[in-house]
Amino acid sequence: MTAVEPNATSLVGQRPCPKCARVNPAGAERCAHCHCHLLVYCKHCGEAVFRGESLCPGCREPLRHHPLADSDEMVQKARAELARVHRRMRWVQLALFLGAVLGAALVVIKLANTDFDRLKPVPRDQMNPVEKAKDDVDRQVFEGRKP
Ligand SMILES: [Zn+2]
Ligand SMILES: [Zn+2]
Repeated sequence: MTAVEPNATSLVGQRPCPKCARVNPAGAERCAHCHCHLLVYCKHCGEAVFRGESLCPGCREPLRHHPLADSDEMVQKARAELARVHRRMRWVQLALFLGAVLGAALVVIKLANTDFDRLKPVPRDQMNPVEKAKDDVDRQVFEGRKP
């Protein structure tokens, strides 16, 4: 009678493939039929664990080695980080918007003041020769339009 020595991989045993349900030899890393990964390695103790187990038989830590679960977790984390950045961005945007509104208001006030000054008629005795000449032309045009 030969006693079967338990080896490290016997923990995995002969288990059906989680994808195609066909049985693979104990310790097989990949399914011989569909080539999907059969083993995952515990992040905490490095133990090879059959894919699909929820707890590591070595250290009893919950396993999250499923590639899809991993990517889901990463996506969740990325989304959370993005949301945090967006929240911060909203404040920055609000500050920038208020700054822009304030700046625009100042520009409008300044322009309005400038235009107002320009519209003020300059007394003829305060005009420089160029302004006087322009004024003369304006007057001639105005007089010429008179019926
Ligand atoms: Zn398979
Ligand atoms: Zn472990």
